[in-house]
Amino acid sequence: MKKAIIIGSGLGGLATALRLSSKGYSVTILEKHSTPGGRMNVVEQDGFRFDMGPSFMSMTYELEELFNSINTEIPIELEELDPIYQVFFQGQEKPRLIYKDLKKLAEEFNDIEPNLEENAKKYLDRAGNFFHDTMDKVVKTNFSNKLDYVLKLSRVPLKHLPYLQRNMWGEVEKHFSSEEVRVIFSLVAFFLGSTPFQTPAIYSLLNYTEMKHNGYWRVKGGMYRLVEEVVKILEEKDVDIVYNTEIVSAGNNNGRLYEVLDQNGKKWEADIFISNSDAASFRGKILNREKFSEDKLDQMHWTLAPFTIYLGIEGKIDKLMHHNYFLGSNFRGYADTIFTSSISPQKPYYYVNALSKSESNCAPEGCENLFILCPVPDLRYKKSWEDRDELANNIIDDLSIRVGFNIQKNILTKKILAPDDWANMLNLYKGSGLGLAHDINQVGAFRPKNKDEKLSNLYYVGASTTPGTGLPMVIISSKLVMERIENDFRTVQ
Ligand SMILES: Cc1cc2nc3c(=O)[nH]c(=O)nc-3n(C[C@H](O)[C@H](O)[C@H](O)COP(=O)(O)OP(=O)(O)OC[C@H]3O[C@@H](n4cnc5c(N)ncnc54)[C@H](O)[C@@H]3O)c2cc1C
Repeated sequence: MKKAIIIGSGLGGLATALRLSSKGYSVTILEKHSTPGGRMNVVEQDGFRFDMGPSFMSMTYELEELFNSINTEIPIELEELDPIYQVFFQGQEKPRLIYKDLKKLAEEFNDIEPNLEENAKKYLDRAGNFFHDTMDKVVKTNFSNKLDYVLKLSRVPLKHLPYLQRNMWGEVEKHFSSEEVRVIFSLVAFFLGSTPFQTPAIYSLLNYTEMKHNGYWRVKGGMYRLVEEVVKILEEKDVDIVYNTEIVSAGNNNGRLYEVLDQNGKKWEADIFISNSDAASFRGKILNREKFSEDKLDQMHWTLAPFTIYLGIEGKIDKLMHHNYFLGSNFRGYADTIFTSSISPQKPYYYVNALSKSESNCAPEGCENLFILCPVPDLRYKKSWEDRDELANNIIDDLSIRVGFNIQKNILTKKILAPDDWANMLNLYKGSGLGLAHDINQVGAFRPKNKDEKLSNLYYVGASTTPGTGLPMVIISSKLVMERIENDFRTVQ
């Protein structure tokens, strides 16, 4: 039986473990943290249970594909969100509700965007065409080399070329006239950890996945249920998960990796290794590759870092729903400075997930469970986060005013994770929340590959390898790496 070691138990690592163990591989997962799930983790404190990172999922059919591929029923229940979310604009009393149903959406904005239904339909149809013309041909495909990538790209109809020539903001500007609607349609760029001014227009396909194709889904019981259920299945399949074990170096010989070493010097041997640790920084830090030295990594384009606050609140906040965005009044200026600032944002834009609006067991009765996420510069630009309490208080005070509820006075429990915490906890490079960004020169064959360049039995899975970041993408990543492994090791047992 071939032995595989997976370094990291993020969703990418767990999904790969499911696929490998079902094909007869003996699998061990080595995890730095004390719990499984990576960014999709859990915070439990004073009777509250918070999802630590992801709070929704799209393209849920990828999850179905994963469980189908191992002949197992999907072990969790998903619930579609409708409305998808609400957006609070600075200075506007009433939030805007975002519906998948374009008629309802048009009604919501008929005071400022008279042709919304027609324009949104055009915008989404165009994005949908692009999505279907590229998903199988480019996104869900392994490439042998850059030439192979270019050949596959050449099969994408030329009509999509203008997408490559403008950014997301340019695309929404072309379709919508009001600033608010433009901002709302371009918010998906932040899900990619970037801004619409830096994200290529091709990612308007995310609007299509959220508003037309599949929608936004939450996991009943909280997102972490998915990790818990996957771990149960892995245990039944005799997969070993070893926690508090960080791989710090690797031993290789004749183009093969034969062992990795943990922080205590313990050696772990296997036939195949799969790194779920960041595909770029693992090559630099663990394999000492010059192309991925700290200087080189620093020059790459990384996604924004998360500043997250977990609050247990006494009382109910009526104005919140499951997903809420709180935006300021200077979108362009904010987006232009947010990446590279060395100080905390003074008027931060942030997202609030109130899990207790749809889950009763995540907070004591009569209480609210709030997760706040504010995208901030990574540790390359802002090294010290000693002002974390100040930034958290700034956000909490702003939120209190905008929802008309004194949050500060009703806090029962509070936890803050700044970019340095995220970096230390999960080895996220300089605290970047979603890994490498998705510029044209950092996707496809230009993203760190899922098969090592020099070591024939080392593979990569997760957000910084192909195809990219986000829960559905890392599930696709596990499928792609499995295809590679199966190609290379056809004769298991
Ligand atoms: C705050 C936040 C909110 C998000 N919200 C959403 C959302 O709502 N929807 C969505 O689809 N996506 C969301 N994402 C993105 C999503 O969480 C990630 O794309 C995805 O979880 C990445 O999974 P992964 O398997 O690539 O890596 P990770 O989850 O980072 O897992 C990697 C694992 O490897 C371990 N590791 C690293 N180095 C080593 C080492 N040397 N030795 C041993 N172990 C190691 C780490 O500890 C970690 O557990 C969010 C991300 C963040 C940070």
